[in-house]
Order: sequence, then C-alpha cells, then structure tokens
Amino acid sequence: DFSVPKSTDEECLNKGLLKNLSSFFSLDNYQNLYTGEEAKRLIEKMEKFQPELLIGYTSVLMGIATLKMKGLGKKVKPKYIISSGEVLDSYSRKYIENAFETRVLNLYATTEGGSIAFECLEGGFHVNSDFVHVEILDKNGEDVGGNEFGSIVITRLYPGGTPIIRYTGLNDIASFESDYCNCGMHTPLLKNLEGRKKDAIVLPDGRIFPPATIPMPLAEATSKFGTYQVKRFQFIQRSIDDIEIRIEIDEEQRNKGVTVERLIEEIKKNYQKLVGNDVRVEVIEKKAEKVEGQVSPPLIISKLDKKIIDKALL
Ligand SMILES: [Zn+2]
Repeated sequence: DFSVPKSTDEECLNKGLLKNLSSFFSLDNYQNLYTGEEAKRLIEKMEKFQPELLIGYTSVLMGIATLKMKGLGKKVKPKYIISSGEVLDSYSRKYIENAFETRVLNLYATTEGGSIAFECLEGGFHVNSDFVHVEILDKNGEDVGGNEFGSIVITRLYPGGTPIIRYTGLNDIASFESDYCNCGMHTPLLKNLEGRKKDAIVLPDGRIFPPATIPMPLAEATSKFGTYQVKRFQFIQRSIDDIEIRIEIDEEQRNKGVTVERLIEEIKKNYQKLVGNDVRVEVIEKKAEKVEGQVSPPLIISKLDKKIIDKALL
C-alpha cells in the first residue's frame, strides 16, 4: 500500500482500514510505501517483498506499471491490484492490467467514512452497507432516484470518535445501479464513481462531464491503434471554452506502431467530437518535470470558477 507518512492518509489507513481488517487477517506480512518516492525505488522495494496484493493510488500504479513494462520488478506478480484514492479511468486500468497481467479492482475509501464501496470479481461496485449507509442526493438534498448522478452523502454505522451522520463533505459524484450483481452479494451497487465534484468539466452548452469520463476519448484513441505509448496524461480546463490535454509519451514505445503525431491527431479529434466545436481543444506532448519526493500531479485540473461548477452541478 502507499500513503504519505505522518499524514491523515496514514493515520486513516492505520486506524481505519487496517484496524478493521486486523480482526480478520494477520497484518504481519504487510508493507507500506511512501507515494512521494520515485517509482523506480518503489518497484525495487516491491521486488524484495513480492506482494500478493498491491493497493495504491492510480497515478502511482501507473508509474510502476510503466517500469514493469520495461522489464523491471520481474518478481512483482500480485494476484490482484486495487486502485484507490483517485479516479480509476478505463485507460489507466487497462494499462496497469496489461503491465502486470492481472486484474485491477476499484476501491472507494475515504478518510471520513473508511471503505465505502469495493469492486467484486464480477465487476459490481458494492457498497459496504454494513459499515456505511450511502445516499445519492441532488443539490436540494433530495434523493436523485433511478440511475441519476448526484452527490454521495454518507452515514457511518460503526462507532468512532466523531459521529458521521449524513455527511456531505466528500463532494464525490456517483449514481446507483438498479440491478443486483451476479456474484451473489445483494448489497446496493454504485454504477459509477465519477470523481470529485470540483474536477467536473462544465461546457458552454451546460453539459457536465464527471472526472471519470474525461479520459475516455483518450482511451478510445489508444485502443484504436492498440498502443500503450501514453504513460501519463493530464486534462486541464483552462476556461469554459478552452481545454488542454497533456500527454507524456513512453520513449521505448514511441516508435512502435502508430506515430505520436497520428495518435495526437486522433485524441484531439475524439475530444473535439465530445465537447463540440465551440470549445478549443489542444493536445500537447509534454515531458514530465519530476521533482524528487513530489506526489503525483492530479489527473484533472479545473481552473473554472468554482461557482460555475456549483451552479451547473447537483
Ligand atoms: Zn458482485
């Protein structure tokens, strides 16, 4: 697992998830790594530890997956990988799964409410309804109903220092799935966990895209050419009608298959189709300036006035 030492992250992990798990599992065989460390150092440590299960932020897993594809960490063969703490988009999921040749599952855990939902092997996103009661509400505090998007509001059902009752501060967007999962667990299902409200993309015509949907046009372009050239990307809404997509190319993949120029052209075409012609779309190749000890930059940055998002959304 990864978390930032001496932060609320680590505190939450030790006192929340791990404390809950310690009555069921022995945690002697457990290693906690610092996310700010270089991916190369992380994979070296994992090589010695050889974890059966790997839990981490999507962006950190992406960094390690890039190295794994280059042949590092040969003995790092987890049975499963769990992504948490950040949106797990379809491109990142496929990229990490391809590198490690195993499934990546999504976990929705929060500092305030602990583990809220987890993805089962059938792909259902199950609410931990014995730990937490989840509601999805609109901006007036009413149930959105059906499969509509809304804000996640939680009530924690187990004791803790501060009672968490109908807590609205998570600012995450999701919708419920009306069906039951095939796996046999009949807990409520989240259809999608769409990310933080503040990172939603709002367009001039009033359409709103929750963060998790943003990388989809990029994923479509890469899968069209069957390439994993893009090792990192970042999406920035500079203003309501101006969007910038930054991609970082894996040098070892650069000359394999489709050219980078053609890939960029396809990515731009897909985003332009999504947002319409009133919005300027720019796709730029960028080399990451990696600062040692720096935690991964956010996937989606919205520079929109927060009031615009609040007004448009929920
Ligand atoms: Zn299931």
